[in-house]
Amino acid sequence: MYCSNCGKEVQPQAVVCVHCGVRLPAPKPKDGSIGALGIVCFAFPVVGLILYIIWKDTMPVKANGAGKAALIGFIIDLGFYVFYIIGTVLMVLDAF
Ligand SMILES: [Zn+2]
Repeated sequence: MYCSNCGKEVQPQAVVCVHCGVRLPAPKPKDGSIGALGIVCFAFPVVGLILYIIWKDTMPVKANGAGKAALIGFIIDLGFYVFYIIGTVLMVLDAF
């Protein structure tokens, strides 16, 4: 690869340019499917939300996957929560 500042060739894994000393951009992380992490995002929507915020600029595909899994997980959690409240209310009403 080439230095964005001086245009001279540098090692692909170099962190700084050996010619001008400017900091080189880190190699782009691989974007793609989040795989098993989707299950984590699904089970813990907060994790998915955090990953979405971290990844949305650098890895949009992964961010999308994490965001979707978190959203579905959140909706299902909310559903369970609502059922739990309704169940508790019905039990309390039943007691009287
Ligand atoms: Zn340079």
